[in-house]
Amino acid sequence: MRQTSSLFALVSAAVVSALPAPHNEARQVDCCAILADVFPDKVNYPGSSRFSQETDAFWSSTCSLAPNCFFTPDVTAEVATAVGLLSSNECRFSVRAGGHHSSVGAASNIGGVTIALTNFKQRDVDPVNNIVSVGPGNRFHEVYAATDAYHKVAVLGRYAQVGTGLLLGAGLSYLNNPEGLSIDNIVAHEVVLANGTVVIASADSHPDLHKALKGGGNNFGVVTRYDLKIFDVPEYVLGAMPYYDNLTYHYHVDAAVNDKFTHILPQWGFNGATGQRESFTPFLYLKQQPTLPPSLQPWVDVPWVHNTIRQTSVLTPLAFENHDGYFNGDAQQQRTITIFADREFFHEVSDRFHQFAQSWAHIEGFYALHCKMPITPFMVQKSIENGGNVLGLEGIEEPLSILYFGVTARNIEDSEALFAAHEEFVENLRGIAQERGLLHRYIMWNYSAFNQAVIDSYGPDNVQFLKDVAEAYDPNGVFQNLVGGQKIPF
Ligand SMILES: Cc1cc2nc3c(=O)[nH]c(=O)nc-3n(C[C@H](O)[C@H](O)[C@H](O)COP(=O)(O)OP(=O)(O)OC[C@H]3O[C@@H](n4cnc5c(N)ncnc54)[C@H](O)[C@@H]3O)c2cc1C
Repeated sequence: MRQTSSLFALVSAAVVSALPAPHNEARQVDCCAILADVFPDKVNYPGSSRFSQETDAFWSSTCSLAPNCFFTPDVTAEVATAVGLLSSNECRFSVRAGGHHSSVGAASNIGGVTIALTNFKQRDVDPVNNIVSVGPGNRFHEVYAATDAYHKVAVLGRYAQVGTGLLLGAGLSYLNNPEGLSIDNIVAHEVVLANGTVVIASADSHPDLHKALKGGGNNFGVVTRYDLKIFDVPEYVLGAMPYYDNLTYHYHVDAAVNDKFTHILPQWGFNGATGQRESFTPFLYLKQQPTLPPSLQPWVDVPWVHNTIRQTSVLTPLAFENHDGYFNGDAQQQRTITIFADREFFHEVSDRFHQFAQSWAHIEGFYALHCKMPITPFMVQKSIENGGNVLGLEGIEEPLSILYFGVTARNIEDSEALFAAHEEFVENLRGIAQERGLLHRYIMWNYSAFNQAVIDSYGPDNVQFLKDVAEAYDPNGVFQNLVGGQKIPF
């Protein structure tokens, strides 16, 4: 178990001020005890093995924090009772699924209750109606394994251990080019509302809530089940190899647009210990074909050092392959901005990030990661066809690029200075993109830092819609005031 009490002492004052205020402290309400009265076996205190297990389930050490207890429900009715009790007693609480968001305070807290959805392992495949019903405690390799058995796949994240919280933000996936974002392929949410009632939100039932949850994060309730569309999996080829920026640009404006069966994830890393730049570009072709299609051929025509291209009809191994090297316990910060794809700026961004990364190579365990990921007009069109979301991307006429920047330090003590410099780097880049007319206002929830104004970036109409939905379903503002994370700017 990590030493959470000393860890949270190191979380910066800026971060602590972003956490929900301790509403009930003056009234000396013991929120864990209130839950333990009803669920004696499901409230886990420091010192118990379950508390340690749940503490260690966070990807970034900066996110572990120190709740007074973890509540570990098994079924929706237990979440409903607990949320009702926490709301009526004004208890601070958090909701955690896979623990992979790097935003401090998004899924844990100091001195409150963290609801860990670990036990929600439902993954029921309906191959006739092409739906998989997924409990929020699953990691993506578990969902891939369930659908692999039917030669089907949902529009999921690409890494094995990442959790279903991804489905509340946007969701970049192998299937984005043909099917759109993950959120746009959710047909129903089962949600526990602030007052402890349970609703199904879908196109036919509470459609406003259903839409609000497509990008609205944890602002409306606790999702206890997602019903996701699934698609047939043909044979396909995939690989991992170095990339050039020109190929990345080509992917954004050509392959992702014109050959929708391609998925490419160009990543560039810098390892502080070795001083080496590393490139790895997992790719996937979602159509059965014996040889590489023209859209992918250029990626193998450049020199590569490692290559795992093969034909397969299951995706679980790929999810594990991608996740290799990503483990829990280091201090992590992710930040993102969105630009219009631009060949020259792509080069410049990579060079600038390399320079930035080199200046932090001395930090123990330092790693820097940068990716460029497309959002195409077709993906936005798919969203509209599927009922729409709240991201505010409608109307784009050319591909956008989600620019991702991540930094890692082994020791939390090194993180404050590193994270501040990382923020300065990304904000500076945003300024340059803006000056050149390349900036798009969207900030992707999934890769955002705690102090990036994600919901504001959706635009005023969507912000107003989210406010209206929050007021309708959570009139007392429980999920605004007692639960941390990206909040609606009221
Ligand atoms: C190694 C790695 C790989 C990644 N790969 C991808 C990728 O391929 N595509 C992509 O789009 N993103 C990716 N991400 C980003 C990912 O989408 C986010 O980290 C996402 O938050 C992960 O969900 P989680 O359940 O693990 O997170 P958590 O930290 O548990 O939750 C994130 C947020 O969602 C809220 N939340 C979670 N579940 C619920 C629920 N059931 N009800 C209400 N609120 C809830 C939490 O309160 C928290 O605020 C990756 C991240 C990492 C670290």
